[in-house]
Amino acid sequence: MPPIPKTMSGILIEETGGVEVLQWKTNLPVPELKEGEILVRNEFIGVNYIDTYFRTGLYPSSTFPFITGKEAAGTVVAVHPSVSTPSSHNNNTSNKPKEGDRVAYLADATYAEFTAVPAALAHVLPPSLSTETAAAALLQGLTALTFVREAAGLPRPGTSTGTLGISSGPWVLVHAAAGGTGSMLCQMLAVHGAKVIGTCGGKEKCEVAKRNGAQWVVDRKEEDVVARVREITGGRGVDVIFDGVGKATFEADLEMVARKGTVVVFGNASGPVPPVDLFKLGAKNVKLMRPRLFGYIETQEELDVYTRELFDLLLTGKVNVKVHEVYSLKDVARAHSDLEGRKTTGKLLLKV
Ligand code: NDP
Repeated sequence: MPPIPKTMSGILIEETGGVEVLQWKTNLPVPELKEGEILVRNEFIGVNYIDTYFRTGLYPSSTFPFITGKEAAGTVVAVHPSVSTPSSHNNNTSNKPKEGDRVAYLADATYAEFTAVPAALAHVLPPSLSTETAAAALLQGLTALTFVREAAGLPRPGTSTGTLGISSGPWVLVHAAAGGTGSMLCQMLAVHGAKVIGTCGGKEKCEVAKRNGAQWVVDRKEEDVVARVREITGGRGVDVIFDGVGKATFEADLEMVARKGTVVVFGNASGPVPPVDLFKLGAKNVKLMRPRLFGYIETQEELDVYTRELFDLLLTGKVNVKVHEVYSLKDVARAHSDLEGRKTTGKLLLKV
């Protein structure tokens, strides 16, 4: 294995703002390992909408300057001695990463050549799962899987009733159904037996959403979404809505949701949803949620069980990841512009 250098390249943010604040640096210090950590030489880095929120300051960073990014996959190049001892933070003994292993992980500061990662958060990749696929699927795949199961309460395939008492076959609407998370949601929902309606901005995106498993698609640029959804569901409305668009779509969600349905708002691609008048929910006894992925994978068991299930879904081909483009890390500003400019479908990756 090549020696670990003292400095590395990466993207530093010194102040919040537009894509111009993403600064390419070649002399950042390689992180020193603390107890329980491993050092990963990143190969592919996932770009997620949350990275833009930290860049703009919509989500405040606790430190400045900082390296942004939440997801990557690569090779373990160093392991803190504490990781292999019984008192290690890493209780996940069956999956303990060692030097040379390929791993995927969710942690901070991934827009860089190297990241220090709590060992317990890294998952060793099965031999047949490529590093690129793992980096592309982890965050958005876990989001889709946990949200379908826990926020929407759909039953695990093969069982009859989910955590919210929903049996399989509900009507579910997914906004931005050709995006990274939307693509994963449509496929996961199809696996869980839901009747999926996808909304997208444009014809081509609608075609992508169909390939993702949305049986019905609505082009938000051309069609009256509320009227179309009413028509598709025979006037009933949908049982669950997954909305990562936010401000632009929320009011219509309350019109499209069925009586006793659930609206899951999970993002702000068009801006955050303003404060909600709770009385509006009473009209149809609607459940309103605002979940975060990290709230569903907080314990080691939750993280491990859902990650294993995601890897199985990928390896059996029940869920696939489509990479929009692999950008060079240096070219990250273009990746952010494309994502925010609604020019992409599927997953954006950075390559070191
Ligand atoms: P996407 O690949 O879905 O890209 C965003 C999409 O949002 C665009 O392609 C576009 O699709 C749609 N969109 C609609 N209006 C706008 C607008 N005004 N500006 C920009 N985009 C718009 O991104 P991600 O998959 O990375 O993220 C999707 C959402 O999911 C984000 O809000 C993100 O924060 C959220 N998320 C939340 C998580 C959580 O834990 N709560 C975890 C993961 C993601 P179209 O043109 O088809 O409308």
